[in-house]
Formats: sequence, structure tokens, C-alpha cells
Amino acid sequence: MASYFLDENTKDGAREVHADGCCRLPDFYHRIYLGEYSSVQQALRKAVLLHDRVYACSDCCSEKAVPQSPGPVLQAS
Ligand SMILES: [Zn+2]
Repeated sequence: MASYFLDENTKDGAREVHADGCCRLPDFYHRIYLGEYSSVQQALRKAVLLHDRVYACSDCCSEKAVPQSPGPVLQAS
């Protein structure tokens, strides 16, 4: 299990999801705690409830069954 965070900064209409410890994790005031998840997919499902378009950070989440960059953008339907 790892802690996941949603970046509050929007890039091209989408927000990035990071695992705890990522070097690109924004500072405390610009991230939203998503919770503890065993995979980034679960974190993305939570994140998409908070923002319409989210994607997994290619630095910290890439080797966990997520296709390489550009990361998949998960869109709320
Ligand atoms: Zn990251």
C-alpha cells in the first residue's frame, strides 16, 4: 500500500496523480490526499471523482501496469 496524492495544478485540463515520495509531488498546499491504495489504478478511480480528467505520473507510477507516457487520461463519464 502506498499513499497517493492528486496534484492541484491543472495541466492541459488534467491533473496528475503521484505516489508518496515522488520527486514531482507538489508541496503540501497544492496536493490533495487521495488515500492508501495498493495500485495507482485505484488511486486514479478516486482521483477522477475529484477532478474530471486525471492521469498517473510517469515518474512514480509508470511501472505499475500503467502504459508509458503520455499517461492514460482517465475521464469521468
Ligand atoms: Zn509522481
